[in-house]
Amino acid sequence: MSDKPPMVRFEGVSKHYGELTVLDRLNLEVAPTEKVAIIGPSGSGKTTVLRVLMTLEKVDEGIIWVDGESLTHMQRNNQLVPADRAHIRQVRGKVGMVFQHFNLFPHMTALKNCMEAPRTVLGLSRREAKERARELLEMVGLADKLQHYPAQLSGGQKQRVAIARALAMRPKVMLLDEVTSALDPELVGEVLTAIRRMGDEHNLTMLMVTHEMGFAREFADRICFFDEGRIMEQGRPEQILHAPKNERTRRFLQAVL
Ligand code: ADP
Repeated sequence: MSDKPPMVRFEGVSKHYGELTVLDRLNLEVAPTEKVAIIGPSGSGKTTVLRVLMTLEKVDEGIIWVDGESLTHMQRNNQLVPADRAHIRQVRGKVGMVFQHFNLFPHMTALKNCMEAPRTVLGLSRREAKERARELLEMVGLADKLQHYPAQLSGGQKQRVAIARALAMRPKVMLLDEVTSALDPELVGEVLTAIRRMGDEHNLTMLMVTHEMGFAREFADRICFFDEGRIMEQGRPEQILHAPKNERTRRFLQAVL
């Protein structure tokens, strides 16, 4: 870890669904530009970590910080009180996400998909939004697909549009939720290449939930192994994947590698 203040910080964060504890007083710090892979068994809370950061779910306890500002709380009369909508929207603007199932707008071309939020949320002009969208679609290798609709694209192409669309909002933190899980194996490589370029060229802090252990080993600075809503073990990819200390990490890796 670097000595810079963290870009993302979870401080004692808990999330429950009824009786079920999904995040259990979770502490996690991610340094600026750090790439963190989150692995672990199904139901261990991995996706929930991303969803609460994206404010798609509320936490029950604890504080989340993004780039030095609390996502969950705000200062009022020198006290930390629950954040209001305007505050949440402002901090959440620093975070982008790419989903397992693309979530593209089906009635918009690739170009329009990437222009929509920059225009409506950031207030970019048509020309600026188009320029930005075009550049990003070129970066992910889709210069010849600008006018295609999602239904006319392969899964790998759709996911690359989703990557360009998320980047168009210029987030500081990018969340990736099993972005290759819905793809045919031969399409995984092109998406991983786009993710690599995204990380290299955009100075992003990245948190990715993944089953691609090879990619995690090569791309991530750190792997966090989750179980029962907590980080059971974390460290450099080679240490976690080749010399895990925790018995549960060992068992999980034996099952998936
Ligand atoms: P993972 O990504 O590690 O598979 P998740 O974070 O998706 O785990 O989910 C953790 C647990 O929370 C799972 O048992 C899941 O069924 C449960 N869960 C997730 N979302 C909801 C919800 N909206 N309502 C009830 N239970 C949920």
